Amino acid sequence: MDKITDISDIRREFPALEQSVNGKPLVYLDNGATSHKPKSVIDLINEMNSRTNGNIHRAVHELSARTTALYEGAREDVMRFINARHREEIIFTSGTTASVNLVANSFSASHLKKGDSVLISQSEHHSNIVPWQMACERYGATLKVLPIDDEGNWRMDLLDSMLTSEVKIVAVAHISNVLGIVNPVEELVSRCHNRGIPVFIDGAQGIVHSSVDVTALDCDFYAFSGHKMYAATGIGVLYGKKDILEEMQPWMGGGDMVSSVTFEKTTYAALPLKFEAGTPNFIGAASLGQAIKFIENIDHTLLLENEKRIVEFMRDRLIKIDGLKLYGNVDNKIPLFSLSIKGAHPSDVAMIMDKMGVALRSGQMCSEPLMKRFNTESMLRASFAMYNTLDEAQYFIDCLKRAIKMLV
Ligand code: PMP
Repeated sequence: MDKITDISDIRREFPALEQSVNGKPLVYLDNGATSHKPKSVIDLINEMNSRTNGNIHRAVHELSARTTALYEGAREDVMRFINARHREEIIFTSGTTASVNLVANSFSASHLKKGDSVLISQSEHHSNIVPWQMACERYGATLKVLPIDDEGNWRMDLLDSMLTSEVKIVAVAHISNVLGIVNPVEELVSRCHNRGIPVFIDGAQGIVHSSVDVTALDCDFYAFSGHKMYAATGIGVLYGKKDILEEMQPWMGGGDMVSSVTFEKTTYAALPLKFEAGTPNFIGAASLGQAIKFIENIDHTLLLENEKRIVEFMRDRLIKIDGLKLYGNVDNKIPLFSLSIKGAHPSDVAMIMDKMGVALRSGQMCSEPLMKRFNTESMLRASFAMYNTLDEAQYFIDCLKRAIKMLV
């Protein structure tokens, strides 16, 4: 199949983009929350729901063999996509949140004790705060927080002094879901590893907007969700280095994660199944494999250039709007913009713009501590995906100006 080399050809693959909302053509700019799905993904989900349905790994019948092949094939797709070394390093979960919880439970059980610490950053999503906080409470450990500066950048000047011998793991986001900043994860991993500290990366946004190579990055864990990268909801991935995953005890028990069960003692299956208890979301996993193939069939330069154009276009126009505050460093970011407007509540702006067909996010964006850091309770966020165009960015700017006129 020829590679897709044009944004309009990408758009044609997404039926959701053809609809009108509130009588206006949809301009969907809430991709940071969830993205739409291309036809190839939708078709596969429909096909599996209507025909190719059989529980994986368990039966000898044909339908089970087909779903097992789709499920394990998707594992190979993920492995290739993030350049992992071994298929055993790819664990299917229900999403980023489940992946964080898996590590916060399993890794902490054997590594965290009273007096230890976990280091996160001040710009984390609740999903990469709360599970660690719960683990710290359980084991009498302390949650330490790497501060950010006024532009939202990690205070890398403070990192070394915070990496004390009590820190047993560092857990940070690759790209902030509020600021859109691409964080210096390579440097952080290298500095942590110099001290023998493993690093967990929340890649919920990172996987969508950068070429992730876990082998080059050398991170110990990398987590992401399918639904933000054009696949189904309820599926996600935890990548973990094989030797670390091997020594971790399973978090959830059940079918498929066992080697042998007696009432006296259970032995566990080998990786990756050790961490995949119960019937997994095999249709979701297959949809993720399909989404990866879809992404791989698009000219990568096209995606990079479109993102760059949108970032520059948006930044140049937003900074000129009176009373508008843009959050975060605008130099090294993905097309995701969080802002506030003097005298207008973000939810009111979002509601007015919804009437104009523009879908935005407003509120705390699951990042209450980050809102506090910027002395606000709420922001308005526009987040772009591969199918968004400069015309849509222009429409967003025009509608925003109209909404501000109505409210301020
Ligand atoms: N981390 C980040 C940076 C995110 O953007 C999100 C989703 N907004 C999550 C974690 C949680 O992802 P999910 O809800 O898919 O588990």
